[in-house]
Amino acid sequence: MSSNKSSRLKGFFKLNRGARIDLLRDFASLPVDQARVLGHDGALSFELADLFIENAVGSYPLPLGVATNFKVNGVDYVVPMAVEESSVVAAASNAARWVYESGGFTAQIVSSLMIGQIQILDIEPSGFESAKAILLSNASELIRIANAVHPRLLMRGGGAKEIEVKLFPQAEVPFMVLHIALDTRDAMGANLVNTVCERLAIEVERLLPKSRVGLKILSNLADRKLFRAQCRVRSEFLKPKDVDSNLSGPQIAKRIHEAFVFADSDPYRATTHNKGIMNGIDPVVIATGNDWRAVEAGCHAFAARTGRYRSLSRWTVAQDGDLEGEITVPLQLGTVGGVTRLHPMAKLSLELLGSPDAATLGKVIACAGLASNLAALRALTTTGIQRGHMKLHAKNLALAAGAKGSEVESVSNWMVSERRVSVQAAEEALSKLRAGDKAIESVDSADGVEASDKNNQSGFLKA
Ligand code: NAD
Repeated sequence: MSSNKSSRLKGFFKLNRGARIDLLRDFASLPVDQARVLGHDGALSFELADLFIENAVGSYPLPLGVATNFKVNGVDYVVPMAVEESSVVAAASNAARWVYESGGFTAQIVSSLMIGQIQILDIEPSGFESAKAILLSNASELIRIANAVHPRLLMRGGGAKEIEVKLFPQAEVPFMVLHIALDTRDAMGANLVNTVCERLAIEVERLLPKSRVGLKILSNLADRKLFRAQCRVRSEFLKPKDVDSNLSGPQIAKRIHEAFVFADSDPYRATTHNKGIMNGIDPVVIATGNDWRAVEAGCHAFAARTGRYRSLSRWTVAQDGDLEGEITVPLQLGTVGGVTRLHPMAKLSLELLGSPDAATLGKVIACAGLASNLAALRALTTTGIQRGHMKLHAKNLALAAGAKGSEVESVSNWMVSERRVSVQAAEEALSKLRAGDKAIESVDSADGVEASDKNNQSGFLKA
């Protein structure tokens, strides 16, 4: 980036798309072919992108795949996942298959309330208890006023349910917080909750005339919007089929339990363990047009609720050696609101899931998190994570080295068979392949399907 160019692009938002791109080309010295990439809109029209965000210049496509083999509470699901990382979809599908063949996942909503916060300042800590008593004695009136803000939410069976007051007398600036807990039904509820908080702030200042309201906004620590999923995996399914292993199924289950204990005890491990859980959660959250920043923030804060950052899941071994898993996660999701019904890919993803309500979507997503976690733990305790990962990563490296079409498969298979998965190895293999080296061409495809075949369009797409 040139240092003598100004980022003060005044009025950028008023420009049309072409003028924005011209400015960017100049600012970043973008070659024409790079700038042209911005013109590839895919399913999301620029018109919509420009309505969704400010200063839009294009769209950013992610691969959309589907995780197969999910059975949740007796219902089969194909789970859409928008994600750029190799092996995430395969891992979730694999683990879901072991669970499927063991009877499927079960999932429930533990609680279904979003929390709004109103910060109350300018009261002496000595007056906190009496201020709290005033607020609590007016709880039903506050709830009534909150519900008057969104009467249709009340008609849908949602609305404000509870009031809570928290005191922070020792803070650098002492303050109190009023929590309002709302059932936002099928909406994630951020805007719904924020509007209620702004309305209640007026009431708080009326009830506590000496007070001043500070912030009024929802909390993304959605620990009252919890989903739980469980599975039991028959131990024989844990044995990797394609590698020699002396480990029995129950022994692998025991190792997975040990891996859970590691994550639950050590935040360094817990962070990676939970990242593996988010590998299953985020792609579905993204595919369905939900706010993954909110879900991420909520899940990690929830993982640290005891004062130590811990595992979001729990794995134990049953008496018969089978593996039992459970996850509890806060998922602030909607199947209405935000872009869920506006983004064509989000709409499609929700349809692939059978147009679920938010409760059902949350249950499926909790299961996707548990499945991803299981796949990672099984790999880590048996073959090691790199084996499967590298197989898929090799394809990215082959692409990066310039491989095209069926070359991608040949180059990546050669790297995996040679156990040399790197950009240099990809470049070497590609140049040998193009020079006619049959040894590279003939390495067996990992799954027997050529890339060009996979790209074949269905009759429907061709029509
Ligand atoms: P929203 O503002 O689109 O409101 C949802 C709408 O859906 C409401 O008008 C409601 O009346 C309607 N609705 C229709 N059918 C419904 C049903 N069955 N159940 C519930 N509502 C129904 O969406 P939202 O969920 O209030 O807010 C979500 C958006 O807010 C997301 O885009 C998110 O990124 C954004 N946001 C997040 C934060 C945060 O997480 N901190 C802050 C601000 C905004």
